[in-house]
Amino acid sequence: MSKKTVSIIGSGNWGSVIAKIVGKNVIDNPDKFERTVRMWMYEEMVDGQKLTEIVNTKHENVKYLPGVKLSENVVANPDVAETVKGADILIFVLPHQFVRPTCKHMEGHVKKGALAVSLIKGFAITEDGIQLISNMITECIGIDCAVLMGANLAGEVADEQFCETTIGNSDKKKMGKMLNDLFETSYFRCTVIEDIKTVEMCGALKNVVGIGAGIVDGLNYGDNTKAAVIRLGLMEMVEFGKIFFPGCKMETFFESCGVADLVATCHGGRNRMLGEAVVKSDKPIKELEKEILHGQSFQGPLVAKEIYGMLAEKNMLSRFPLFAAIHTICERKMDPRQFIDCLREHPEHV
Ligand code: NAD
Ligand code: 13P
Repeated sequence: MSKKTVSIIGSGNWGSVIAKIVGKNVIDNPDKFERTVRMWMYEEMVDGQKLTEIVNTKHENVKYLPGVKLSENVVANPDVAETVKGADILIFVLPHQFVRPTCKHMEGHVKKGALAVSLIKGFAITEDGIQLISNMITECIGIDCAVLMGANLAGEVADEQFCETTIGNSDKKKMGKMLNDLFETSYFRCTVIEDIKTVEMCGALKNVVGIGAGIVDGLNYGDNTKAAVIRLGLMEMVEFGKIFFPGCKMETFFESCGVADLVATCHGGRNRMLGEAVVKSDKPIKELEKEILHGQSFQGPLVAKEIYGMLAEKNMLSRFPLFAAIHTICERKMDPRQFIDCLREHPEHV
């Protein structure tokens, strides 16, 4: 079989960790993959120098993953069309709101029969309703899209602390081994399953629940209350799947992408930090994002807003009180202290 060329679209906090993993794995599998991994960067200036130039000389993403070296075969490129040209595998890892405009620049440059792998935790809301980002990628650039999601806080993976992840792919037999060779390491264990939609839906929704966990931290409640947020959040995720993603598999919630990612995010995620900050400060979310994350982004508030709008339109908000309250608190239209009442009166208790 011919060697696969790999490109990465995105280079933030998680994108840079994946570049570290994939960069090393292609070197370790020279018979399977081409050595050079092109990585598209949204260009910006850092201390008067282009970030792509810094990455290509220092082999470190000094803004989004400082202190972690990338192998020299990872080459940053500010031109997305050049980055994807001729690639067999396109790894998408950028905040979900930028996917569609980024894909626009790829038109006419994506190799026929290439495979996309989305690491993006989010949804798209279209005129037809809710859309998985993997479907949006397929619609925009005309290739199949697998997904990779799990309990993978970027900093810990960068430090090579053991964790698991879930790869959702439509054909495990055909692509599973290749995806494993590309992503797995001794500290990053991959399980390939044939259930893209549940994997991806869990990845998007757990960021909303993570804000709820931060709210109870901000209110100085303890672990029992946080466990209630995790459980009620999980029940809403399951309900959401039943309604909007028929065929969603229950057993997938027990993979790393499900309960495990929910627990990790509710304890150590950026969205949890946001929830805490929302209680302790009255600044708008965008301001908190700048202050806390210095260029990185919280995906939870946007997903919460998107699903709130859709649920409101369908008159279904009462079935998802936790999701709804989290959005309303982020919008500063509800006092965070009312969040506990929302847990107390949750329909799961009736
Ligand atoms: P990040 O939060 O660090 O986001 C910042 C990135 O967005 C930067 O690369 C920045 O250059 C880019 N950007 C800014 N403006 C842009 C624009 N107009 N167009 C395109 N790109 C632009 O990114 P991340 O942590 O790599 O997250 C990417 C995805 O991975 C998200 O869906 C996130 O939920 C998911 N994820 C993150 C983690 C984590 O721990 N960070 C773990 C697993 C999954
Ligand atoms: P946060 O974006 O909340 O940090 O979550 C990261 C993540 O997805 C861990 O799996």
